[in-house]
Amino acid sequence: MKSGLVVQESVSLMPRNTLRVEVMARYYTNVTSVEQLRQALAWADERGLETLILGGGSNLVFADDVDALVIHMAIAGCHWANAANGEATLVLGAGECWHEAVLYAAAAGYRGIENLALIPGTAGAAPIQNIGAYGVELSDTLVSVTALDSESQDIVKLSNEACEFAYRDSLFKRQPGRYIILEIAMQLSRTRSLALGYGDLQQYFSGREPARALTPADVAQGVMAIRRRKLPDPAQLPNVGSFFKNAIVPQDTWEQLRADHPDMVAYPADHSVKLAAAWLIDQCGWKGYREDKVGVHNRQALVLINHNGGTGADILALARRIRDDVQARFGVELEMEPRVVPAGLGL
Ligand code: NAP
Repeated sequence: MKSGLVVQESVSLMPRNTLRVEVMARYYTNVTSVEQLRQALAWADERGLETLILGGGSNLVFADDVDALVIHMAIAGCHWANAANGEATLVLGAGECWHEAVLYAAAAGYRGIENLALIPGTAGAAPIQNIGAYGVELSDTLVSVTALDSESQDIVKLSNEACEFAYRDSLFKRQPGRYIILEIAMQLSRTRSLALGYGDLQQYFSGREPARALTPADVAQGVMAIRRRKLPDPAQLPNVGSFFKNAIVPQDTWEQLRADHPDMVAYPADHSVKLAAAWLIDQCGWKGYREDKVGVHNRQALVLINHNGGTGADILALARRIRDDVQARFGVELEMEPRVVPAGLGL
């Protein structure tokens, strides 16, 4: 073994995934630098092993043991760059906790990511699904992603455009395994407008009489309060957040759906229409459903819960039934948001 790299054999991943699914990693290592990452990749390569990069484990469904070297990404780092005229770039190492970074930026008075408070996971995982909440997406502020390109072994800097961001989607999701994210940089501002348009946020702040203008820290606190009311804490009720993406359908499909279901909840989205997946699932009667080990959260139908030692297969079987019901009732195909490992065992 090369110095600096510690590889363990047969490691339980239960503490490392927020669904608390019990699976074993054949090999496991923690990397805190690019050098260690390169060593880990070489170690796996010498043994003909696959690798899996693991951040906070909050968007993964383990469907089986992982016959690979699991590399826990723990590269730290948090600094400001290019501060001028009320703007600054926040640079985060991939292993940094996303939520802590949001609070740090908001406390410094910088705006742009405060609506993304309490999203679990690491900074390095954030660009993969272009995390979003309450009308704000990471892609609104992200300037660049620094990554190790596993094809060329080069360290590359991808611009916002090169990341091909879309709704809960990016280049990194479409080319899994190619880029190992090392660092992200976001352009934040002390003056940009706060995004308070979503119903829950409007309501939260309408009842309050702020003696002063709202700060990004106030918005982050509001988002946290709303999320805590509605969404289960993975430490209490193991989950991976939204299990399905909202479905994007063409305008004419929406006209037809609305004619058949006048109460359907939907929002305009780039020449298409975004259907609230939670509404579709709720209408099929799944909200609050519980079987022996797994179930659907009783306040948010998009969140599946591992109540009692369920496996990834138990969760996926439930997800399949929900998806099929929505398809049968509305003719709308729901896509999963989290990644399934191994990939072949997905829905
Ligand atoms: P909500 O406010 O009850 O709204 C239901 C859905 O309608 C949301 O998914 C949202 O889409 C959409 N929506 C609501 N108001 C909208 C508006 N003014 N304009 C456009 N679209 C609107 O949703 P919620 O379940 O409590 O979640 C609140 C926010 O947190 C949402 O943005 C949601 O995506 C985010 N969230 C993310 C995760 C995750 O794991 N990624 C988990 C939970 C919640 P969008 O989803 O496109 O915003």
